[in-house]
Amino acid sequence: MQDHQESPPGLEYDTSAPVLVTGATGYVAGWLTRRLLEEGFSVHAAVRNPGIANQMTHIERMRRELPGSIQFFQADLLERGSYTRAMKDCSVVFHTASPFEFAVRDPQRELIDPAVLGTRSVLDSVNVTGSVRRVVLTSSVVATYGDNADIAKLPGKVLNEEAWNTTSTPKHQPYPYSKTQAERIAWEIAEAQDRWRLVTVNPGLVLGPCVTDYIPDAYSFSLIKKFADGTLKAGVPPYETGMVDVRDVAEAHLRAGFLPGAQGRHIIFSDVKRFIDVSALLHAMFKDHRPFPHRVLPKWLLWLVGPRADKAFTRPVVSKNMRHPWRADNSKSRQSLGMQYRAIEQAITDMFSQMIELGAVQVPQALTGSHKPGTS
Ligand code: NAP
Repeated sequence: MQDHQESPPGLEYDTSAPVLVTGATGYVAGWLTRRLLEEGFSVHAAVRNPGIANQMTHIERMRRELPGSIQFFQADLLERGSYTRAMKDCSVVFHTASPFEFAVRDPQRELIDPAVLGTRSVLDSVNVTGSVRRVVLTSSVVATYGDNADIAKLPGKVLNEEAWNTTSTPKHQPYPYSKTQAERIAWEIAEAQDRWRLVTVNPGLVLGPCVTDYIPDAYSFSLIKKFADGTLKAGVPPYETGMVDVRDVAEAHLRAGFLPGAQGRHIIFSDVKRFIDVSALLHAMFKDHRPFPHRVLPKWLLWLVGPRADKAFTRPVVSKNMRHPWRADNSKSRQSLGMQYRAIEQAITDMFSQMIELGAVQVPQALTGSHKPGTS
């Protein structure tokens, strides 16, 4: 299967100027960088450790095999002005860098400051870099709502691009709070000028394989690993959310960066799945590899013991998210960006196959042999 969709008719990528990707070695940014290199762009990759990034084998492979070029720059979200050098001459800035984690000790330091001060710093650099005409911000669908329970209060009980997260705080749902505050600041800065346009991509839970030769330390992978490593062996929470293939998220960024008509926010997801659906799919495809959870935990039990098992699982989080439906409208992304989403089952299957291949999931000895996914 081709890793990306056909471009919408009439969309030509102007590769004459370089483009900047912040956090270019991240999970989502890895696919975006690859897509840009496939189209022949000169990619300025801003990362915390350019020395390490330069030596990564997947980067060497992309340099060898793809028409574009890549150059690394050192930058940190917490160092003001550190993106200015990487941005020189760039036409489009893709700002993806932002910490994604739920279980943090110090939300302000670990999530909110890098997300908000980092976005401000990147956009301050955009304001002094005359070549930039568009900024694509990797926001999140959690900038449109805080808890699943919020969705039932919306008109039609469905999320769309008009909605804003008004319920998260530094103490309750700090990651959604960090993404909401970062996106709000971005709109404020964008609306104070008229040289460059801000377009946001607001993905749901991103799943699918990585471009690296190792499993990245990204939340999406640690979540799927929990289905296989025994963390969820007693059962999965009664939770559902919108999910999307990482390759579609990369494509949405590219189109948001270059389609002349792209503007505003874009909710990006393909399917709504319950955690038990994810587990059932993993069981159907890979049951020889792991005993996947097969029951849904009662909400009252999670409410009682959840906070002891996982500090992000506070009682308000359990009350406002478990057994609350998740509904959203992705029609803007399908119409304005021409997105045709691949099935999330493909993303999960490809992701887990890769986790086995790269040794992130240990196959019990008794089960090793000639197994192929889905053929037992
Ligand atoms: P990831 O692999 O952990 O990427 C996060 C990136 O942010 C990494 O490149 C990381 O750099 C960078 N970063 C963090 N703190 C930084 C700092 N102080 N200075 C510079 N860079 C810093 O996770 P991801 O899933 O790809 O997330 C990428 C973006 O997508 C984030 O904005 C996230 O909020 C958004 N998003 C993700 C999902 C999802 O389900 N995965 C859903 C919606 C939105 P290092 O590589 O140096 O650590």
